[in-house]
Amino acid sequence: MPKNIAEFSIIDEFFKPLTNGAAASQNLADDVAKISLKQDEELVVSQDIIVEDVHFLKKDGGFKIASKLLRTNLSDLAASGAKPLYYMLGFAKNNTLDKKFYADFALGLKDVQDQFKLSLIGGDTVKTSEKLFFSVTIFGSIKKGKILSRKNAKDGDIIFVSGNIGDAAIGLLLSKGSEIYSGTKKDYFLTKHFFPTPQIKLGQKLVEKDISRCAIDVSDGLLADLKHICQESNLSAFINQNDIPISIQISKKSLPKNISLLDLISAGDDYELIFTAKKSAEKKILQLAKSLKIRITAIGYLKKTTKNPDVIMLDSNDKKINFSKYGYQH
Ligand code: ADP
Ligand code: MG
Repeated sequence: MPKNIAEFSIIDEFFKPLTNGAAASQNLADDVAKISLKQDEELVVSQDIIVEDVHFLKKDGGFKIASKLLRTNLSDLAASGAKPLYYMLGFAKNNTLDKKFYADFALGLKDVQDQFKLSLIGGDTVKTSEKLFFSVTIFGSIKKGKILSRKNAKDGDIIFVSGNIGDAAIGLLLSKGSEIYSGTKKDYFLTKHFFPTPQIKLGQKLVEKDISRCAIDVSDGLLADLKHICQESNLSAFINQNDIPISIQISKKSLPKNISLLDLISAGDDYELIFTAKKSAEKKILQLAKSLKIRITAIGYLKKTTKNPDVIMLDSNDKKINFSKYGYQH
């Protein structure tokens, strides 16, 4: 039975335990949270909002919805190279939510915050008569002047990407009832869609080891997000389509019906990192991939051109591949 559960019982029962007793939260008993920083550190902040039927379906359940919300917000932090500290939660509820939804939502948050070592320090809870929506604002810290930025790529840099591109898109199709894969393969892609892994460790290591100053996470699509780097750094990207890492679960030669390679590489939601580095850093990067047990692939390079900065994709004969779709449009 749907219930109108009171704001303060929700905060006490479900949100207070997520503070882990962090002093910054002031035990959710004050008007504000309070974050202390070391002298040589900067605070890095990012916010995401998700809306029912646009970013999630209520039938996904509280666990999946909360988990993905925090994971995708963490991915923004990963792209900055910062270390996660805290987050705040905006919660717009309505009368369709029962206690199980809140309990599952809190479990979904707890699962992610335990894995990535951050705590809840505050938020706001409101009632809406319309669709549900939730927001997370995340706070991280980084050494002064070390933040990874889209505008920091340099002429001649190599472009690297972590993990696989397109897994989440396959997972989205499967979640909508597509039968292109079944069994453990299906589970693999659904997990990639509902529970993306933000590349927090990779981001931090790129900073720590002075490998890169430029990164972005793949939220809208590889081509779209790489284009942001191009525009902000005023360089063009030359990438080889054959080098783009597609899951080994998918055969590039025999893609499922109705899916092209371009669909995969212009699809969003993978939350991998694109970063750039000098060619001389390649060995360090391979070692890093090994120690983090992740895939890191070089897909091309950046170069100053006289034309507008753009992404240029080449086939195995170095011929330009024409495409019109870069990625997901908001
Ligand atoms: P205010 O009236 O100043 O907005 P509230 O009564 O909404 O304060 O909140 C009381 C306390 O509970 C605050 O510390 C606030 O940060 C916390 N809080 C409210 N909603 C949430 C939430 N969704 N997640 C975490 N903390 C929350
Ligand atoms: Mg409030």
